[in-house]
Amino acid sequence: MSRLVVVSNRVAPVEEGKASAGGLSVAVEEAFTGIGGLWFGWNGKIENSTPAQVTMHEGKRFARATMPLSRKDYNEFYAGYSNSTLWPLMHYRLNVMNYSRAHAEGYRRVNELFANNLTPLLEPDDLIWVHDYHLFILGRDLKRRGLKNRMGFFLHTPFPPPDMLKACTEHEEIVRALLDYDVIGFQTENDARNLLEYVRRIPGGTVRGNRATAFGKSSRVQAFPISIHPEEMARTAARTVNSNRARQLRRSLGEKQLIIGVDRLDYSKGLDNRFSSYERLMENYPENRGSVTLMQIAPPSRGDVQSYKEIREKLEGMAGHINGRFAEFDWVPIRYLNKSYRRDVLAGFFRIAKVGLVTPLRDGMNLVAKEYVASQNPEDPGVLVLSQFAGAAAEMDGAVIVNPFDEEGMMDGLQSALRMSREDRIERHQSMMEILKRNDLQRWRRRFLDALRTPRATSDRAGAD
Ligand code: UDP
Repeated sequence: MSRLVVVSNRVAPVEEGKASAGGLSVAVEEAFTGIGGLWFGWNGKIENSTPAQVTMHEGKRFARATMPLSRKDYNEFYAGYSNSTLWPLMHYRLNVMNYSRAHAEGYRRVNELFANNLTPLLEPDDLIWVHDYHLFILGRDLKRRGLKNRMGFFLHTPFPPPDMLKACTEHEEIVRALLDYDVIGFQTENDARNLLEYVRRIPGGTVRGNRATAFGKSSRVQAFPISIHPEEMARTAARTVNSNRARQLRRSLGEKQLIIGVDRLDYSKGLDNRFSSYERLMENYPENRGSVTLMQIAPPSRGDVQSYKEIREKLEGMAGHINGRFAEFDWVPIRYLNKSYRRDVLAGFFRIAKVGLVTPLRDGMNLVAKEYVASQNPEDPGVLVLSQFAGAAAEMDGAVIVNPFDEEGMMDGLQSALRMSREDRIERHQSMMEILKRNDLQRWRRRFLDALRTPRATSDRAGAD
C-alpha cells in the first residue's frame, strides 16, 4: 500500500500529548492510524540558518520531518500573508485583512521552500495530503518539480464566495494552484460551493457533479466535515468530571448554573458579541443575576498580529465592565481566563456546564461545539447554543442555533437554553450524539483517503460520498 505523507504548516512537537493538541494535529495523527507514514512541516522554531535543515524524527506510529523558518519567512509568510491576509479573508473579515506584495512574495517563497525540502523525501507512489491555507499553492510547486503522485488538499477554515476572494490580489493564482490537487476537501457544502462558483464564474470553467475543470486542469471538490471521537470524549468526561479540578469548579459554583465558552482568543470567535449578549441577559432577565456564571476560557494566540492585540484588549475591557456593573461580594458574572487547559480537563468542565456557548462570526468547523455535546451526561445533558456560522451548525441540528450578529437574539437563545426542560435537552442531545457517532473522525479520514486513492473515472461516478 502507498505511504501517506501529510504536510501542514506546523508539525506538533513529539512531546505534545493528545489531550493538549489542537484540532489540526489531532486530525493529522488520526490520519496515520493503522497505516503510519510521514508528517512534514515547520518545527515552530525561528532560525536564520540557510539552507533550512530538515530533521527526521522516527516515531512509533509515524515519522516526522521538520525544519525551522527564518525570521523573514516567519514575518512575511506566517504572521504576514497566512495570518494577516488569508486567515481574515477565509473568515469573511476584509476589515481586518492586511495585504502587501512582500508578504505575498514570502508566501510563494516558503511554499517553494516546503516543496524543495519535501521532494527528496518522497517516493513515487506516496499519497500526499496537504493541510490548510498556509499551503494552498504547494501542490503546484511539487508538480513543477516533476512529481506525479496523487495529492489532496483539505482546508480547515471556511472558504469565501468569489466576490470576497477577489479582494486578494492572488485569487486566481490560488484557485489555479488548488486545481493541481486531485481532491480539494472542505468542511461544509457551503465552502465547496463557493469554490465551484468561482471556477464557473471567474475563469469560466465547468462543474460536473463534484468535479471542477478550469485552466486545463480538473479536481474533485467535496465536503468532508471534520469531527471528533465522540465515545472516547464521553468516557473522558465521565472520568474527569470527578477529578479534583472539576470538583473544585463545582464547589466554587454552588447552586449556580455554568455557561462555558472555550475558544482561542481570535476575532473570528465572536467573543465580543458573546459578552455583549451576556450583558443583555443580565440586564433583561435579572433572575440570572447571582444564579448564572459565564466561564470563558480564551487562550491567547498569534499575539504578534495587531488585530489579536486589539481583540484581547477589548475583551479585557468588556469583562471588567460587565463584572464591575453586576458583581456582588459572593458572585461575579464572568470568569475570564486567558490560559489553556488540556482537553481531558475541559471535558470534565463541559460536563458540569448547563450551556455550551459557541458563537463564532464564521468558523471552519468548531470542534469545541462537538466536544461539548459528546461530554454531556446523557441522563441530564446541557444545551449547546451554536452560531449559524460555525461549520458544525450544518450537522448539530439539536443545538439552539443563534445569529451572532444579533445580540438580543443570542440573549433569548441563552435564556431558552437555561430554562429548557430535561426531556427537550435529552432529545436534542441524543439526536446530536447519533450524528457524531455516524460521522466521527475516523470516517472523516476514511472518506478523504478513499477519495484521494480513487482514480478519476470512478470518483466522477461516486457522487457525494
Ligand atoms: N483546546 C484545548 N485547550 C484549550 C482550548 C482549546 O485543548 O484551552 C482544544 C479544543 O478542545 C479543540 C481545539 O483546541 O479540540 C480547538 O479547535 P476548534 O475547531 O474549536 O477551534 P480552532 O482553534 O481550531 O479555531
